[in-house]
Amino acid sequence: MTRKPLMAGTWKMNKTIGEAVVLAQDISNNYDDRWKDNVDVVVCPPYVDLKPVKTVFEFDRVPVGIGAQNVYWEDAGAYTGEISVPMLTEIGCEWCIVGHSERRGLFGETNEDVNKKVKALIAAKINPIVCVGESLAVRDGGTTLEFVCAQVKAAFAGIDANLAANAVVAYEPIWAIGTGRTATPEQAQEVCKAIRETLAELFGAAVADEMRVLYGGSMNPGNVDLLVAEADIDGGLIGGAALKADSFIQLVNVCL
Ligand code: PEP
Repeated sequence: MTRKPLMAGTWKMNKTIGEAVVLAQDISNNYDDRWKDNVDVVVCPPYVDLKPVKTVFEFDRVPVGIGAQNVYWEDAGAYTGEISVPMLTEIGCEWCIVGHSERRGLFGETNEDVNKKVKALIAAKINPIVCVGESLAVRDGGTTLEFVCAQVKAAFAGIDANLAANAVVAYEPIWAIGTGRTATPEQAQEVCKAIRETLAELFGAAVADEMRVLYGGSMNPGNVDLLVAEADIDGGLIGGAALKADSFIQLVNVCL
């Protein structure tokens, strides 16, 4: 099975609406017709930027998807400050990051929360990008594979195999995020392969073979080739290098 690569940029808490529109326009201006068949390209701006960014891509008719960086699992109600799945659907959001290590670490998101969000997104046909990854302490303790695979099992608990294929897992070692320290291709492949084996246990080999597993953590134009060349790495979740059109586009174009 050849999986179509996915390159997803997360802008985190960066870019006002004006700045977001400029960046989206810059990406759109550099759109290459070959992206359509060879790579799925997604940007995940802050909530308030989603609609303006979507409008740029729609106006220019370029197939770049938009994703949110978080969501709440209830549809509506007294949940001050939260954004629901129907709200994302109405904007035309096709993707949503869940369980990013910054949300787990800074905002107390648990594996159970991640599971509820994944279920709510899948039910609405928004593709979750589920982030998993170990701290340096876990890696140094030698239990990376157990830790990461337990996160994967928890995220997908109770989800039917026939609904899972469009979900994506992003392996993001915490020690590599925003640090400039990237996992080696061998380290990243070892964990992404274990993730795919875990997905096969959960959903069967055929579904696991279809699901995309990304690497994230200081991916940049200098290290992307060797990472995406690995058998179980199907693209990237990109933070810092997604904040400028030229570096993001270089990363996307590696998949052509
Ligand atoms: C991220 O935040 O998911 C990420 C991968 O960031 P960076 O590329 O900056 O390490």
